[in-house]
Amino acid sequence: KKKILHSKEAVPTVSFDQIGGQERAKKELREALDFLIHRHHIRQYGIRPLKGILLSGPPGTGKTLMAKAAAHYTDSVFITTSGSEFIEMYVGVGAQRIRELFHKARKEAKKNNKNSAIIFIDEIDVIGGQRAGSQHREYDQTLNQLLTEMDGMTTDRKVQVLVVAATNRKDMLDSALLRPGRFDRHITVDLPDKKARMSILKLHTHNKPLADDVDLEQIGVETFGFSGAQLESLTNEAAIYAMRNGSDKIGQRHLSEAIDKVMMGEKTDREATQ
Ligand code: ATP
Repeated sequence: KKKILHSKEAVPTVSFDQIGGQERAKKELREALDFLIHRHHIRQYGIRPLKGILLSGPPGTGKTLMAKAAAHYTDSVFITTSGSEFIEMYVGVGAQRIRELFHKARKEAKKNNKNSAIIFIDEIDVIGGQRAGSQHREYDQTLNQLLTEMDGMTTDRKVQVLVVAATNRKDMLDSALLRPGRFDRHITVDLPDKKARMSILKLHTHNKPLADDVDLEQIGVETFGFSGAQLESLTNEAAIYAMRNGSDKIGQRHLSEAIDKVMMGEKTDREATQ
């Protein structure tokens, strides 16, 4: 009999130690997730099940990584989507996609023999922005369907679903989303401070050949305001510079050049959109 091989990606391999800095956010998230892990226990106490977690913070700070690590930590299948995928010309399509999303989450969990599923919705503000009158009927239906699905989630089901949403516009969200029993856990994912920047740099240079003159602390100082995504891109650029120069190791000057490159890149992007 042929054994069914389950897709390896069903449960992400990203763990919390692969996320640099964000100590407070990681701790808060882990504490919230313990409610999911011990859901039968909390049910005995009549505690409301955890249904939604909102991650908010600037782009590239690791919100997607956090959601993946949450799935890894709880041994849940991970279903990812973005708010923009629900915006359609035809009324009702967005709502239908939400229904399918929850259906898919339960199906994937069963298929992979897991008791829980995490649905990650990036850019939740696209569907959950403050209601703006009748011309946004489609958005409203999508949002209403999401709320209906979340209200219908109970611990009685075999598969427990948790929705993790991300936004960099928390102020824009409809208050209906933030009510108890919906996205009632809010975790802020901020830009990294110097220490966090250093640990992110360490994580992303771990598999790269660094010369002895490299001072990651100095790079940490010079990258004030950088996001995790920018730091990752910096280490990659530095490796490219080293390779182009024919050096077998990445030196401090390659890293410094890469800082300029990442900063310039950001500037060019901004100018291009102006
Ligand atoms: P966006 O809001 O733009 O979707 P995000 O907050 O979801 O961004 P991620 O997609 O998680 O950010 O991060 C992008 C990439 O940046 C990651 O794949 C990783 O390489 C790197 N990164 C970001 N933050 C961290 C971090 N704290 N530690 C390690 N790597 C990070």
